Amino acid sequence: MLVYNSQVHRKQELEPIEPGKIRMYVCGPTVYDQIHIGNARTFLSFDVIRRYLMYKGYEVTFAQNLTDVDDKIINRANEQGRSAAEVATEYSEKFIEQMHRFGILDPDIRPRATREIEAMQEMISLLIDQGNAYEAANGDVYFSVRSDHAYGVLSGRDLDQLRAGERVEVNDQKRDPFDFALWKAAKPGEPSWPSPWGEGRPGWHTECCAMIHRYLGTPIDIHGGGADLVFPHHENETAQAMCAWHAPLANVWMHAGMLQINEEKMSKSLGNFYTLKEVLDRYPANAVRLLMLQTHYRAPLDFSFDRLDGAVSSLERLTTCVQNLRWAAESAPQDGVLSDADRVLGAAVDAAEQEFVQSMDDDFNTAGGLAVVFGLVTSCNKYLSEAAGQTETAVTLRAADALVELCQVLGIELEAEAKKGEGLPHELVDLAAKYASYDGDDPAEAANTLLEARQTARSQKNWGVADAIRDGIAELGLMVEDTPAGARLRAKKD
Ligand SMILES: [Zn+2]
Repeated sequence: MLVYNSQVHRKQELEPIEPGKIRMYVCGPTVYDQIHIGNARTFLSFDVIRRYLMYKGYEVTFAQNLTDVDDKIINRANEQGRSAAEVATEYSEKFIEQMHRFGILDPDIRPRATREIEAMQEMISLLIDQGNAYEAANGDVYFSVRSDHAYGVLSGRDLDQLRAGERVEVNDQKRDPFDFALWKAAKPGEPSWPSPWGEGRPGWHTECCAMIHRYLGTPIDIHGGGADLVFPHHENETAQAMCAWHAPLANVWMHAGMLQINEEKMSKSLGNFYTLKEVLDRYPANAVRLLMLQTHYRAPLDFSFDRLDGAVSSLERLTTCVQNLRWAAESAPQDGVLSDADRVLGAAVDAAEQEFVQSMDDDFNTAGGLAVVFGLVTSCNKYLSEAAGQTETAVTLRAADALVELCQVLGIELEAEAKKGEGLPHELVDLAAKYASYDGDDPAEAANTLLEARQTARSQKNWGVADAIRDGIAELGLMVEDTPAGARLRAKKD
């Protein structure tokens, strides 16, 4: 299985530190606002990477932090006249809520910066003792980038070139402009904790490193995050770990590409800024996933509502195919004797399962994986229309199960999506009583009776009754769908 390691800029064979096990960490959000869809893309990418590793049989331990103390949180709290803790609690909950809506699996470990102060202080003390960090006159503690000869290796940057090229925050407390704060001395009104260096709070780069060491042990197998975190955040994380514990932080560094809107950078000033919540309020999570996974996780993702509409149709195509397969298997069971068409479909399922794994084994190529899934949909639809009521039950159900399972590896829940349209309204019973003398009380039974009555009316050219049944069904928000295996009712599309 090949995985692209950003540290060496190429794909490498995945070699777990402990056979059969993967320990991975993905930098979490700073909880001061709803997350935007660019962040969501990163979290989705690693959710699918984790799911696929689990599918391959690895025992995956996944940790993700919540940065719940930070300048952005403090600023937001001051704007709103609230405490930083209140802001952080509110947006931590909102983040978790949106992750659940998006179908992202919970991490096994979700440490929060404010509860890990001790672990961070231990690491900072170690770095000071070993000459990699120093206490400034104002009570800040800085990491000395010059003390780490490997500084810049992860991001491919040279400190001297950086100096010439990049803007650096001016701060007379630092010995070198690229030194970064491990501990920030408290300012009035800010949350703070006692420390050997006075009251203060940890720096952002410090928390991930200390948490990884505490909860997963270093080095871990995979460290992930958005491509915007490579420098300075990940460079700083790896520098601290190497200096503190003389071991790399991670074997493989993985970075998810950025998201653009209609080929433009997403920004509040361009008016094209969307939170995950806004998007999930308008579109099914499975369709948003489908859209995002149509692009490889490292490539820039072009997001637009037109493309999202396209993903809704594609999702519909998938769920309808699975429903039609199950419907065909239920309504016209045929067991045992395989026709040529049955054999062709069986072979298509085998090939799809193999090709899906080949794609995903190549650095989690979800775009390739989805192409395989849609290829199988085409084969299934062809089979259904050609077999016309003569589908073999085991083959048909196996094809449906394969589609559901492959999508599930990507976190796309087809059965759940299909069920949204189920749950027939009870009013069907009254309609069936009126047009088909139905005297039972089961909406599903009533639906079948109505469909039969409609069919009979049509064959007798009794158009008045056939149309009245169709209209009555339409008023209940349903439509009649003619499938190769017979007519059935489904929810009307908006
Ligand atoms: Zn981090």
